[in-house]
Amino acid sequence: NAPLLDVNGLAKHYPVRKGLLLARQVGTVRAVDGVSFTLDRGETLALVGESGCGKSTTARLVLRLIEPSAGTLRFEGRDITGISGASLRAMRRRMQIVFQDPYASLNPRLTVAETIAEPMQVHGIGDAASRRARVAELLGLVGLRGFHAERYPHEFSGGQRQRIGIARALSVQPELIVCDEPVSALDVSIQAQVVNLLKDLQRRFGLAYLFIAHDLAVVKHVADRVAVMYLGRIVETARKRDLFAAPRHPYTRALLAAIPHPDPKRRGQVKPLGGDVPSPMNIPPGCRFHTRCPFAQDRCRSEEPALRPLADGHAAACHFAETLPPAELDFSGGLS
Ligand code: SF4
Ligand code: MG
Repeated sequence: NAPLLDVNGLAKHYPVRKGLLLARQVGTVRAVDGVSFTLDRGETLALVGESGCGKSTTARLVLRLIEPSAGTLRFEGRDITGISGASLRAMRRRMQIVFQDPYASLNPRLTVAETIAEPMQVHGIGDAASRRARVAELLGLVGLRGFHAERYPHEFSGGQRQRIGIARALSVQPELIVCDEPVSALDVSIQAQVVNLLKDLQRRFGLAYLFIAHDLAVVKHVADRVAVMYLGRIVETARKRDLFAAPRHPYTRALLAAIPHPDPKRRGQVKPLGGDVPSPMNIPPGCRFHTRCPFAQDRCRSEEPALRPLADGHAAACHFAETLPPAELDFSGGLS
């Protein structure tokens, strides 16, 4: 039984050009540099990393909005890496996206009803009357009211706009929704409501989510599995519980340490990760994390660690994943 989505060795490299007519290639940006993962029906995989790690580029590659430099994408076992025309349009209906910024992603000139119905129109689903009925049903599903249909996006709060974006994505009954930091732009008090809505809809419709996030705080409420990205590669992946309870990669540990403990008395002095993320045009040799890793050894500067399986479903790209001292902080306290 093939997974819903199977991503293998996916890469996106951009040439950097300079000079007259940009004739001279002066380097290569390795935005995504060999990423593999699977996603099952009804499952949430969180893709987590700092800005510039390649998570959004990975999302756009999965949606076939940009072409990969290497690697394959399979949907239900079928290779969709090179499809185009009608096959690609049919595939697009099955994979939708919810954007980070509900202010920027909705067309201000369309009513809510028009916004939600637009993907159905694009894909030729139903007639005007059936689309109207479907819009009314979708408004109810995302917790909005019937009279909202004729209003415009600017009349809504950020959380409500995100609900409109979710209704729009749902309108064509996709199997996979890429959620690109869907709550990052919202007030903390609203984030939980939107996350809970996404979880309800997942249970109801068996949706799979590829959930993009820049920290692990939100992820602990939504993900089944987590993949941590650093400079274009996945450096650790595990079931959420295992990742939070026993993180093996030093970078994952740093991301976990950055989450405040829910009990203020147990919030220790967390040392922030030193140094900046190197440029994806200049990825360090050996382990790409060695310039910031507190455990780096000589071997790390020359030999690149592979993403190695450690235990059931848990893998990490660190030469010393098994022998690093136990994580100092009690991360599991942050796990609900
Ligand atoms: Fe740190 Fe070395 Fe492990 Fe890389 S391989 S994460 S530099 S200890
Ligand atoms: Mg991004």
